[in-house]
Amino acid sequence: METTKCLIIGSGPAGYTAAIYASRADLKPIVYQGMEPGGQLTTTTEIDNFPGYPEGVEGPKMMEDLQKQAERFGADIRWGMVSEIDTSERPFRVKIDDGTELLAETVIVATGATAKYLGLESEQKFKGGGVSACATCDGFFYKGKDVAVVGGGDTAAEEATYLANLCRKVYLIHRRDQLRASKAMQNKVLNTDNIEVLWNHEVKEIVGVEQGFTKALNGAVLVNNKTGEEKKIDIEGFFVAIGHKPNTDLFFGKLDMDETGYLVTQPDSTATNVPGIFAAGDVQDKHFRQAITAAGTGAMAAIEAERFLG
Ligand code: NDP
Repeated sequence: METTKCLIIGSGPAGYTAAIYASRADLKPIVYQGMEPGGQLTTTTEIDNFPGYPEGVEGPKMMEDLQKQAERFGADIRWGMVSEIDTSERPFRVKIDDGTELLAETVIVATGATAKYLGLESEQKFKGGGVSACATCDGFFYKGKDVAVVGGGDTAAEEATYLANLCRKVYLIHRRDQLRASKAMQNKVLNTDNIEVLWNHEVKEIVGVEQGFTKALNGAVLVNNKTGEEKKIDIEGFFVAIGHKPNTDLFFGKLDMDETGYLVTQPDSTATNVPGIFAAGDVQDKHFRQAITAAGTGAMAAIEAERFLG
């Protein structure tokens, strides 16, 4: 059976950066790209906050560049999903969805997280054309414009306050009459003049115009779930902030997770509770969720894997 010194699961900035470092350390890593090669950034448009791209870069292009950089040092990048892993003994026995099995001396888990969406057809239609799940990534495009954020947790509150600094007006649409966010974040939201909270509202539809491949969102139809009343708000950007789901189903009962399913790593380290298994990127980070922070922990994981192998 094939054996690798380092198996990397996932191909976002964390996975590819781990691959660059691990291949330069001569660990000859194998990377399984997973369900969404390139990860969440392949669904964004321009990335302006990754150092080294003075003119900005398209998300898919940056991921292509990272892949090529990893391949340049010999990383073996493969299409496929890991379907099973036995973490009870080293080397770890891993099954791939095409039936392949391999043994890995170390594993770097970089499977990321998936933003939750409302599930509306119109939301899907305007994804990347007005609908976004990341204000830090896409907020800049709505400078001086009116936008909406949906959700009532810390992420929604943070995104709304972030956007309020850039945009003319921010509607915060929440399905209840109370925010779930921490008191400090609630106070920020409620004390920001250009944020209007629309309590007890749900989104029925996102509307806009489509011309060929160009899409321009121009509003959202909301329903008050107490009165049944409908209203349309005029907005150009719609930010979904109803939570993320870490992609950790594969590791239930095998690796330590917090109550929301994020992998737990040791302080100042990417080490999980199983020696030889490391976690990098959004799968272990619910606070920052940036490409650059994911890349940073990817580098850490590869360095730790190298040191672990001694
Ligand atoms: P949360 O799960 O905390 O909040 C999700 C919000 O979205 C809730 O208000 C929920 O409504 C709403 N929601 C969920 N599904 C739907 C739906 N289908 N339609 C409409 N609304 C919906 O997720 P967050 O991403 O905000 O936070 C995740 C974790 O990360 C939390 O523990 C949070 O504290 C933490 N975090 C901390 C930060 C910090 O400390 N700076 C920053 C960001 C996150 P309802 O309230 O009705 O359930």
